[in-house]
Amino acid sequence: MRRWFFAITGVVLWYVLGTAWASVSKVSILVQLEDPSQNVLTMEYTLQGIDSDTLTIAIPTWTPGWYQTMPYSEGIRDLQAENERGEPLTVQSVNHYSWQVDTGGAQTVRLRYHVLARDEGMGFFGVAMGPHYAYINGAAAFVYEMDSKKAPHEVRFRLPVGWQVATAMDFAAQSEQRPFGDVRDTFVAPNYDELIDNPIQMGRFEVREFRARNVPMRVVFASETGNILCNMERVTTDFQRIASAGIDLFGSAPFKRYLFIIHLSGRGFGGGLEHLNSTVLNVPDRRDLNINGLAAHEYFHAWNVKRIRPRVLGPFDYTQPVRTRALWWCEGVTDYYATVLLVRSGLIGDRAFWQEMEREILTLENNPARERIALEEASWNVWEGNGMGYGGLSYYNKGKVVGFLLDVTIRGLTGNRKSLDDVMRFLMERYAYPKPGFEEDGILQAINRVVAQDLSALYRRMVASTEPLPYDEVLKYIGFRLERQSTTTTYFGVTSTIDAAGRVIVQAVDSQSPAFLMGLRAGDIVEEIDEQPADVRIEDVVSRKKLGDPIKITVWRSGRVVVMEGKIGGERRYSIRLVATDTADESVLRVREGLLRGTTRVSAQAR
Ligand SMILES: [Zn+2]
Repeated sequence: MRRWFFAITGVVLWYVLGTAWASVSKVSILVQLEDPSQNVLTMEYTLQGIDSDTLTIAIPTWTPGWYQTMPYSEGIRDLQAENERGEPLTVQSVNHYSWQVDTGGAQTVRLRYHVLARDEGMGFFGVAMGPHYAYINGAAAFVYEMDSKKAPHEVRFRLPVGWQVATAMDFAAQSEQRPFGDVRDTFVAPNYDELIDNPIQMGRFEVREFRARNVPMRVVFASETGNILCNMERVTTDFQRIASAGIDLFGSAPFKRYLFIIHLSGRGFGGGLEHLNSTVLNVPDRRDLNINGLAAHEYFHAWNVKRIRPRVLGPFDYTQPVRTRALWWCEGVTDYYATVLLVRSGLIGDRAFWQEMEREILTLENNPARERIALEEASWNVWEGNGMGYGGLSYYNKGKVVGFLLDVTIRGLTGNRKSLDDVMRFLMERYAYPKPGFEEDGILQAINRVVAQDLSALYRRMVASTEPLPYDEVLKYIGFRLERQSTTTTYFGVTSTIDAAGRVIVQAVDSQSPAFLMGLRAGDIVEEIDEQPADVRIEDVVSRKKLGDPIKITVWRSGRVVVMEGKIGGERRYSIRLVATDTADESVLRVREGLLRGTTRVSAQAR
């Protein structure tokens, strides 16, 4: 990827104890949409092979890829159940996200409920609907039986005339000529996790298709207005290059097909969300639309986070937040590889690659949160953060810088024989879904194994501490050093004037400014500044001071003297430049070239 909140009430445990493993052997779902102006989907479930007296039906409280609690249950309405003879069964609410159905011994149960289309724009985290489109992010729409997530699920559609369906799910009548199913098909997922990690676009939309290293791929352009400005052929050919570069990096694709869903809309959540074999990208339409960086990020997730992942990120527990210290790897390192894919596919030049790294370092160094929050902490606490990190530290930003530094380090230490690409490939081989994910120290172990050295100290410094990153020690391997200049700006937050009698009067004070916090208020008559009689405006005194300098102001207010002391505020900002120091050394050129081209050959290709 790349906002909602509500508290979880007590989790009820008795149903876990009271039921067998898989209570249901097969789940069939019919998705019905009669009239998009109603803003509602009707879902009909048939649960077969039931061997339990009670079923616990639930809707997720979050969606994979976005680590924030979501009020999906608020969109679920009118849940009803009946047995195979059409007799109604008792449905009771257990808590805010689950319901219990008494089966009365039935082996087949039908469920029916409505899902409100509540997501903004064309949909991103939830279900959205408009005159010619509808979108399903699975976690918002599909309920599951608590003990039957591993059961196969199949889904069919009944939609308005002329509407289509686009999803990357397998379908029953698959063939080489028809890699993607359509509205006539029955789609199949081996389990609930995969069902909901295949978003579904419905309605009228434009489709472009291509193959990347012989893997069929599809780009769906769905526009909120119905008109499309962007150059669809250009977007598609760019995506083909990105897709090929990703497969080249790993040696093969972990999916049978891949689907890019583009929502051309200025509303809703702007950005992309990764899914198992697809992604949704929500962006405002424009003639010169270029979303290559965003698309490369989400596409790379098909390997990193969808297959290579911490243990808690699949199979998923949808009932509560799941925590890992590794989200910096899932998101930040993915973002590093997005830039890597762009340069390796030739969509950006070498210079743009270095500039991108420079920009990320600049952002990080100018963020004071880096001195308080470690990367692992930002990952662990993201549920209490904003979905991008915690306490002001973005694991996208610092994770990307650390990914870059790790790649340079590994190449530098091994004479460009090994790289972060090798770590990725190792992780893919060892942990790729459906194998269990890695433990919390899995990334460090993989790096140490690839490099055949113990990099624990460096790793911990970068990901588990708030110590400054070791730029110069690392960047020497590519013949760069970081040139850093600091500039400071001062800020006090007061406007004053001199009246006809020669008195200095405070006219306005910015809320929460240093002047406000020390106690200055509009209307104050200034008697002294720094123990000198006031004869110039406060701003004129402040302008001669530096960040952090003390200031003492005595004022006359409501008939009494008030003495206040404070400090000049402002901020220190760094300007950062990656400066080439050594361009002659063969080994330096080799590592630089290795980063940009993906080579780990020992013979220099560099010029
Ligand atoms: Zn992401």
